[in-house]
Amino acid sequence: MLKPNTHYAELKTSYLFSTVIEKTEEYKANHPDKKIYRLGVGDVSLPLCDAVIKALHGAVDDQASKDTFEGYMPECGKPFLREAIAGYYKNFGVGLDTDEVFVSSGACDELADIIDLFDLSNTALVMEPAYPAYVETNTLAGREILHIKSDESNGFIPLPDENIKADIIYICSPNNPTGVVFDRPTLKKWVDFANSHGSVMIFDAAYEIFIEDEKFPHSIYEIEGARSCAIEICSLSKTAGFTGTRLGYTVVPKDIIRGGMSLNVMWTRNRLSKTNGVSYIIQKGAAAVFTPEGQAQIKDNIRVYKNNARMITDALDKVGIWYTGGKNSPYIWVKCPHNMKSWEFFDYLLNRAQIIGTPGAGFGECGEGYFRFSAFGDPEDTKEAAERMKELLKE
Ligand code: PLP
Repeated sequence: MLKPNTHYAELKTSYLFSTVIEKTEEYKANHPDKKIYRLGVGDVSLPLCDAVIKALHGAVDDQASKDTFEGYMPECGKPFLREAIAGYYKNFGVGLDTDEVFVSSGACDELADIIDLFDLSNTALVMEPAYPAYVETNTLAGREILHIKSDESNGFIPLPDENIKADIIYICSPNNPTGVVFDRPTLKKWVDFANSHGSVMIFDAAYEIFIEDEKFPHSIYEIEGARSCAIEICSLSKTAGFTGTRLGYTVVPKDIIRGGMSLNVMWTRNRLSKTNGVSYIIQKGAAAVFTPEGQAQIKDNIRVYKNNARMITDALDKVGIWYTGGKNSPYIWVKCPHNMKSWEFFDYLLNRAQIIGTPGAGFGECGEGYFRFSAFGDPEDTKEAAERMKELLKE
């Protein structure tokens, strides 16, 4: 008789967004005349930029002709795109070989697959509150997870200490959900910790495009020593609006050797087993993101989201509510006023101002009492939501 993977029963966080949707639908059914202002989910609201659309159309036409038609893709990505991504890293002073860059169909998929590189006896360290994929993928694999909590006392940025015994270390910067960004000295501490313990860091840089202050690195490889301990996972989802188009990239440097094995060679082998590559059309669209025209256009969109973030943080400043993020990040992590619990604040905002956000409790235990706003919403709706918050929360 087949025995299912019973670790599925251990998953908890998947209720978060479905409960948000359920509660919103219920409210809408009871108040059909009310408009809802969505500052909740992390999906983007602006379309793909012109440079990408042109490249996608061109690639579709390529598929119509025998001379330009493309079939199966190289498993690790087309050389033109791997080169374009390696070229992008030069902006941060980071030199990568083309075969250290792997094209993927998105960061979420990569977070799920990358743990194939590690034996099940390794432990994973997750800094809470956290993007749910780190815990969920390791839970499903049956791996032991160590949670370190962060809170206002450490600015939601945990530091390594000698009591920590972890083999796989997840760091997300700029962070989802807290919006905090790890600075260079803090990342250096984690890199030194990983190298000295033989651990491997999974650095999630999905929101790097939002960094504007020099003191924060865009890539972990800006930190000395990272090439021998860190894998970086990134995505065009938030950078260029590819949430529905799907493309990401992963960097596995050749310097990471564990147990005499090269993780770069292993990951290349993994791709040969597990994928037949990302669609040619999408890779052509993605390459356009890295052209000067594409970069200028995606930055115009990022400016819109940053302006949304500013409208939200201005409102919070006005009513004196504590928060992190919002400047080098699209997320704003708010302390619920009057000691409300996360779901209590959700109901309060929905019922009193028709604003939807994301309860912090859904990102792990230490998110209780906090709330996440996203700057990816429609600018007009965000403006109105900010006004409503100023009015409601001054009470
Ligand atoms: N990593 C973080 C921190 C995210 O917030 C997200 C999506 O919200 C992802 C990864 C997944 O991105 P993708 O759309 O590339 O799968």
